Amino acid sequence: MTTIALLASLTILGYALCYLAVCAASPWARCRRCHGRRYHRMAIGTRRDCRRCDGTGIRVRIGRRLLDYIRAEYRGGHQ
Ligand SMILES: [Zn+2]
Repeated sequence: MTTIALLASLTILGYALCYLAVCAASPWARCRRCHGRRYHRMAIGTRRDCRRCDGTGIRVRIGRRLLDYIRAEYRGGHQ
């Protein structure tokens, strides 16, 4: 039982590290709201800029924000 629990937690930790590595390498992801199209189709011939990404079509990954936060905290504490 203990071995299984240990393996499971190691796997989760591995996935988390991979995710953070991806976030560090490429902080931008496609906006989920507009799927990177930058706008929403309202009616025929009508477009409205996506509010979630301000019409950029990309968003910052949550993990990257976490990394930036940790980095800022680290810098703040070591000056
Ligand atoms: Zn968007």
